[in-house]
Amino acid sequence: MARDLAIDLGTANTLVYAKGVGIVLNEPTVIALNTRTQDVLAMGHDAWRMIGRTPAYVVAERPLRQGAITDFEITERMIRLLLRRVGVSKFNRPRVLICVPSAITEVERRAVEDAARRAGAAGAYLIDQPMAAAIGAGLPINEPLGNMVVDVGGGTSESAVISLGGTVSLEAIRVGGFDMDGAIQNFLRREYGMAIGERTAEEVKIQIGSAHPSAVDAQAEVRGRDLMSGLPKNVILTPREVRGAIEEQVAAIVASVITALGAAPPELGQDLIYQGIHLVGGGGMLAGLDVRLSEATNLPVHLVNAPLECVVLGAGRCMESFDTLKSMFIGAR
Ligand code: ADP
Ligand code: MG
Repeated sequence: MARDLAIDLGTANTLVYAKGVGIVLNEPTVIALNTRTQDVLAMGHDAWRMIGRTPAYVVAERPLRQGAITDFEITERMIRLLLRRVGVSKFNRPRVLICVPSAITEVERRAVEDAARRAGAAGAYLIDQPMAAAIGAGLPINEPLGNMVVDVGGGTSESAVISLGGTVSLEAIRVGGFDMDGAIQNFLRREYGMAIGERTAEEVKIQIGSAHPSAVDAQAEVRGRDLMSGLPKNVILTPREVRGAIEEQVAAIVASVITALGAAPPELGQDLIYQGIHLVGGGGMLAGLDVRLSEATNLPVHLVNAPLECVVLGAGRCMESFDTLKSMFIGAR
């Protein structure tokens, strides 16, 4: 018997949940691509390991970087590789539920469904990531009550108000953790004449990045390369500098949450005074983002228990209770 699967196809991380088992795969959404043949050689950890150890025409790519599917063929190969990794084959054809960014187009949705079917899924279903997140956070989504989820991922941030099993208001922007990393790189280049890699920038953000002055007070030493001399160089950064560097991105996320709130009916907004906003996604763990959002909206903000897993756990719950929760799928109503 094939085990039904739920897949969170995130811009930064891909997770797979198998019915009755739990999370069976959790890897970065990275592929190793042969730029000469456009072959997808590996994905996830395997792809990371290939980079730098292979000829120059093998490159690492984040195919869903901005939450949009820019290249259907590559996305399809990635889904195929992913399903094969978790044991889907001609003889093992599960039903598959895929969590997609709510901003993707109708055409992109169909492409993802088709890709899953061609890769061996017996049935392919889609669910919006914010809806899956709300289910994963255990919110009472089927009640006539305003629930709000803010999902800050790598390439996107989505804010949704959900009531009676449907999305009432949604605001999605193509700004997320990756953009903060880029902003830290730019800051170091501009202020210190120093180049650092994307992953170093991410470490700085996780170590001492914040969205509110009360959140962090340690400093961090950053290693990079001097742009003039080309030699290694170290600098000490303060939390204030890093907060300033990522302020534009944080402000954009805060503004989009306010837009989503403003688009919801006032009654649901009232409910949120008690329910609060639920913050999910890796970017939701940015120190002080909860406090910052709370101050900006005058609402309580709760960071969920497992911000990185919340979406796939919600989709997994849908597969555990397929018949009762299938009404949450895209196109089900
Ligand atoms: P996606 O759903 O788009 O794949 P995730 O929810 O997996 O994204 O979140 C990935 C993002 O979260 C990355 O940009 C990563 O740097 C960021 N992130 C992870 N942990 C933290 C942390 N402790 N503080 C700030 N950002 C974090
Ligand atoms: Mg996500």
